[in-house]
Amino acid sequence: MNIVNPGRVRRVTDGVGGHGPVVYWMSRDQRARDNWALLHARERAQARSVPVVVAFCLSQTFLGATLRQYDFMLRGLRETAGRLRALNIPFALLHGAAPEVLPSFLHDLRASELVTDFDPLRVKRGWLREVAAAAGMPVHEVDAHNVVPARLVSERQEYAARTIRPKIHRLLSEFLEPFPELSQVSNVTVPYIAEPDFEEALRWIRVDATVAPVALPAGEDAAEARLLAFIAEGLSSYAEGHSDPNVDGTSGLSPYLHFGQLAPQRAALAAAQARHGGEGREAFLEQLVVRRELTDNFCLYNDDYDALSGAPAWALATLDAHRADPRPHVYTREQFEAARTHSPLWNAAQHELVTSGTMHNYMRMYWAKKILEWSATPEDALATALHLNDRYQLDGRDPNGYVGVIWSIAGVHDRPWKERPVFGSIRYMNSNGCRRKFDVEAYIRARSAAPRQLTLV
Ligand SMILES: Cc1cc2nc3c(=O)[nH]c(=O)nc-3n(C[C@H](O)[C@H](O)[C@H](O)COP(=O)(O)OP(=O)(O)OC[C@H]3O[C@@H](n4cnc5c(N)ncnc54)[C@H](O)[C@@H]3O)c2cc1C
Repeated sequence: MNIVNPGRVRRVTDGVGGHGPVVYWMSRDQRARDNWALLHARERAQARSVPVVVAFCLSQTFLGATLRQYDFMLRGLRETAGRLRALNIPFALLHGAAPEVLPSFLHDLRASELVTDFDPLRVKRGWLREVAAAAGMPVHEVDAHNVVPARLVSERQEYAARTIRPKIHRLLSEFLEPFPELSQVSNVTVPYIAEPDFEEALRWIRVDATVAPVALPAGEDAAEARLLAFIAEGLSSYAEGHSDPNVDGTSGLSPYLHFGQLAPQRAALAAAQARHGGEGREAFLEQLVVRRELTDNFCLYNDDYDALSGAPAWALATLDAHRADPRPHVYTREQFEAARTHSPLWNAAQHELVTSGTMHNYMRMYWAKKILEWSATPEDALATALHLNDRYQLDGRDPNGYVGVIWSIAGVHDRPWKERPVFGSIRYMNSNGCRRKFDVEAYIRARSAAPRQLTLV
């Protein structure tokens, strides 16, 4: 019987490789523990009696990521490399994008097969196509990120949470299973791979260093500590904490999930198995599994996930009909970035984002909707929100980010609401709504002063 459910695995290409190791090209799921792609690579290696080798291809730049995100990622990879070394699994840190460096690495090792993890973003899908065309060996893609594999749960773009939810729930008992332990294949000679030099990697990348790293501990151990603390102290009250930005009431797991330092499935298992939780548990699982997997679905099946053309027809029509509406406040991208709007609440949220790399979910919605209201066009609004989100959020460049922004600005996964200036029938939010939900003045005081560092719960 397979260790890894075949429903997680897609054969990208066939071919005849060499007699060497099975290589796992680690990309989205940057962890040794709880990783279905690595477990599948090990299973394939076991069948061939060859070792497993892990390779990570470090791009010199990546979709506008800054030192903030690279620093967090490399700190996590350093821990993962050590964890793999302890299991006698070599970790190669290749300098360059995968299509440039991976084919020759596979060739030099006489690799027999290539396994990689699933990622719905365009650039990653393009890299996989190029690598698979050059590899000349069996290439498998494994969905190690979603509890229910994205390609299996639906073959088309889903309309909303209500349409994907029953499809996920139908398959949940099959896929929400415990993870087996990982070990190197026994009785095989492991090839020599140079130890990764993470200091050199930091010098080699070409990223904007003016966006400073944050002090949040990175890596698999920190992710697990955060998860356990949240399950013990935050799960039961999650339903309330989720809608009050003044309370540290959410899990804070998104940076770990984004960089794959924590398997969403590990978090789902921990929540599902908790003896307490009640409504909090249900609300958390809804966000972690249904809402998160809905965003992978959108990016997988809608190539315009970061453009207005990716929005539904009703939203495009209503935004168009309100293009010429008077806009009492219009700001440039630079004014938004510098938190120089007339709104102390918006500025406080932007200040928090710039200094600490995070923002509460409720404020992310308000933040993006005001960018729509105060931009010259919806196109400008979308571009500004995506730029700022990806530049400053530690968890940016994620399907959750693309969908969060296009949901706020262009109605994806939403429905038409009451017609208003500028927004048309896109769902509206204002500071009075915030005042009804939480203490806005306390939020402004706390966020406008010293940066709130991301720390453990
Ligand atoms: C404008 C806007 C921009 C956003 N940008 C990002 C981003 O760049 N990266 C990112 O990971 N998330 C983004 N989100 C989604 C959400 O705000 C964050 O995932 C959440 O705030 C992260 O905090 P947490 O881990 O404490 O979440 P929790 O509330 O503890 O939720 C647990 C996990 O569930 C998932 N989740 C929670 N809320 C959502 C949601 N609304 N949609 C999809 N999945 C969700 C996340 O994986 C999250 O880590 C954005 C939302 C909006 C409205």
